[in-house]
Amino acid sequence: MTTRPVPVIAIHGGAGSRGPGEFDPNIETAYRDALAEVLRAGRQLLADGGNALDAVSLAVDLLEDCPLFNAGHGAVFTRDGTHELDAAVMDGATLRAGAVACVSRIRRPLRAARAVMEHSKHVLLVGAGAEAFAEAFGLELVEPEYFSTELRREQLRRAQAPALLVPGQGAAVSPLDDELKHGTVGAVALDARGHLAAATSTGGVTNKLPGRVGDLPLIGAGTYANRVAAISCTGTGEYFIRYAVAHDVCARIAYGGLTLQAATEHVVMEVLPAIGGAGGLIAVDAYGNVSLPFNTEGMYRGYMRADDPAPWTACLAD
Ligand code: ASP
Repeated sequence: MTTRPVPVIAIHGGAGSRGPGEFDPNIETAYRDALAEVLRAGRQLLADGGNALDAVSLAVDLLEDCPLFNAGHGAVFTRDGTHELDAAVMDGATLRAGAVACVSRIRRPLRAARAVMEHSKHVLLVGAGAEAFAEAFGLELVEPEYFSTELRREQLRRAQAPALLVPGQGAAVSPLDDELKHGTVGAVALDARGHLAAATSTGGVTNKLPGRVGDLPLIGAGTYANRVAAISCTGTGEYFIRYAVAHDVCARIAYGGLTLQAATEHVVMEVLPAIGGAGGLIAVDAYGNVSLPFNTEGMYRGYMRADDPAPWTACLAD
């Protein structure tokens, strides 16, 4: 008789580098508390027999609502001061996937991505078409201002006026530098039936050109799940797209016989830096192994198994 691995959920709130300002432990605590709350909710769902797809959907839902992260409320601004959000979800058991990109009015982009997966024959819908589709399924639409926060507006101002940045005098708002931080959110999970799923959501990168689509809604680049592993990425999306990072990790395990840890470490610590790619990813495999590598100074991250008494969370390197 084979025993199933214990269900597990891992999440991230973006990778980045430490800021020029003072390290603020209170802010780190706020991030870790937020991550821990989401992990507890995801763990409970899995421990109650819920499936991996529902666990990652719930986790990303909660992270999108938290203004600390660059997804949903708290998303970054484009060059023109607008918001364009991307999200994707993938069910590893069936290879079904759904994604939306460049949406400005869907309150919870991940739910829209899941609706695309479950209620259309497509994988990716963008812009106004995606919004109309979401509305038709009763998903909540909001005015674009709903996503705005003063912190993100300030980041756009700083990004557009780099000459005004004085080294050492940046605002110490987080342990990771918001100019260099990619505060995307994501979740991967393994459930009691051995099924895997991945979900990711983001506002993209500050000061991006309107119309730019990152890696996360592109299945295989920033988000991927199959029967081998589930992957959710964060970082400089253009590089993750070129190397189809999320799928590449799964392929190295399936075809190359690498362990989850070896495959993720190789891609994040060797392949990506060699081409200038900065960031990290979270991954879980069908055996319940978890790997959370990043090549930046930090990545908001954590995981919790169904039988863990408390979640594990971290912001900077161990
Ligand atoms: N990868 C995302 C993008 O390029 C950004 C991030 O991870 O924060 O849109």
